[in-house]
Amino acid sequence: MPWKAPTPPSPCSVCDKSVYEMEKLTADGVIYHKACFRCSHCKKVLSLGSYASQERRLFCKPHFIQLFKTKGNYDEGFGKEQHKKQWAAK
Ligand SMILES: [Zn+2]
Ligand SMILES: [Zn+2]
Repeated sequence: MPWKAPTPPSPCSVCDKSVYEMEKLTADGVIYHKACFRCSHCKKVLSLGSYASQERRLFCKPHFIQLFKTKGNYDEGFGKEQHKKQWAAK
Protein backbone atom coordinates (compact mmCIF):
# COMPACT_ATOMS: atom_id res chain seq x y z
CA MET A 1 0.00 0.00 0.00
CA PRO A 2 1.52 3.34 -0.97
CA TRP A 3 1.52 5.98 1.69
CA LYS A 4 -1.58 8.06 1.30
CA ALA A 5 -1.62 11.74 2.08
CA PRO A 6 -4.25 12.88 4.52
CA THR A 7 -7.45 13.98 2.85
CA PRO A 8 -7.13 17.62 1.93
CA PRO A 9 -9.56 19.90 3.70
CA SER A 10 -12.88 20.19 1.93
CA PRO A 11 -13.68 23.46 0.20
CA CYS A 12 -16.15 25.87 1.69
CA SER A 13 -19.43 25.98 -0.18
CA VAL A 14 -19.40 29.78 -0.16
CA CYS A 15 -15.82 30.82 -0.96
CA ASP A 16 -14.37 27.53 -2.29
CA LYS A 17 -11.31 27.82 -0.04
CA SER A 18 -10.17 24.96 2.16
CA VAL A 19 -11.91 24.60 5.49
CA TYR A 20 -9.85 23.37 8.39
CA GLU A 21 -11.35 21.47 11.27
CA MET A 22 -11.25 24.39 13.72
CA GLU A 23 -13.20 26.73 11.45
CA LYS A 24 -15.50 24.15 9.95
CA LEU A 25 -19.27 24.24 10.13
CA THR A 26 -21.46 21.60 8.51
CA ALA A 27 -25.11 22.23 7.69
CA ASP A 28 -27.13 19.57 5.87
CA GLY A 29 -23.88 17.88 4.86
CA VAL A 30 -22.54 21.05 3.24
CA ILE A 31 -19.29 22.49 4.57
CA TYR A 32 -18.77 26.15 5.35
CA HIS A 33 -16.30 28.35 7.17
CA LYS A 34 -17.93 29.59 10.34
CA ALA A 35 -17.18 33.09 9.06
CA CYS A 36 -18.85 32.32 5.70
CA PHE A 37 -22.02 30.99 7.26
CA ARG A 38 -23.92 34.23 6.98
CA CYS A 39 -26.96 35.67 5.28
CA SER A 40 -26.11 36.58 1.70
CA HIS A 41 -28.52 39.49 1.95
CA CYS A 42 -27.64 41.26 5.22
CA LYS A 43 -24.33 39.47 5.98
CA LYS A 44 -25.47 38.60 9.45
CA VAL A 45 -23.64 35.57 10.85
CA LEU A 46 -26.04 32.67 11.18
CA SER A 47 -26.28 29.78 13.55
CA LEU A 48 -27.33 26.24 12.74
CA GLY A 49 -30.69 26.86 14.39
CA SER A 50 -31.51 30.02 12.45
CA TYR A 51 -30.56 29.67 8.82
CA ALA A 52 -32.29 28.91 5.56
CA SER A 53 -30.63 27.98 2.29
CA GLN A 54 -31.70 28.33 -1.30
CA GLU A 55 -29.57 27.22 -4.27
CA ARG A 56 -26.44 27.07 -2.09
CA ARG A 57 -27.03 30.57 -0.81
CA LEU A 58 -27.66 31.20 2.84
CA PHE A 59 -30.18 33.52 4.36
CA CYS A 60 -31.33 34.46 7.80
CA LYS A 61 -34.91 33.41 8.44
CA PRO A 62 -36.41 36.91 8.14
CA HIS A 63 -34.75 37.50 4.77
CA PHE A 64 -35.56 34.05 3.49
CA ILE A 65 -39.20 34.70 4.25
CA GLN A 66 -39.01 38.21 2.85
CA LEU A 67 -37.28 37.17 -0.39
CA PHE A 68 -38.96 33.87 -1.13
CA LYS A 69 -42.22 33.52 0.70
CA THR A 70 -43.97 36.87 0.71
CA LYS A 71 -43.03 38.06 -2.77
CA GLY A 72 -43.65 34.69 -4.35
CA ASN A 73 -41.11 35.57 -6.99
CA TYR A 74 -37.68 34.00 -6.74
CA ASP A 75 -36.11 36.07 -9.51
CA GLU A 76 -36.96 39.34 -7.89
CA GLY A 77 -35.47 38.11 -4.65
CA PHE A 78 -32.16 37.64 -6.43
CA GLY A 79 -32.18 41.13 -7.89
CA LYS A 80 -33.00 40.07 -11.43
CA GLU A 81 -35.57 41.97 -13.41
CA GLN A 82 -38.96 40.47 -13.77
CA HIS A 83 -40.25 39.74 -17.24
CA LYS A 84 -43.36 41.66 -16.43
CA LYS A 85 -41.32 44.81 -15.81
CA GLN A 86 -39.38 44.37 -19.05
CA TRP A 87 -42.63 44.22 -20.99
CA ALA A 88 -44.02 47.23 -19.17
CA ALA A 89 -40.95 49.31 -20.10
CA LYS A 90 -41.61 48.99 -23.81
ZN1 LIG B 1 -15.59 30.10 3.19
ZN1 LIG C 1 -30.46 38.51 6.40
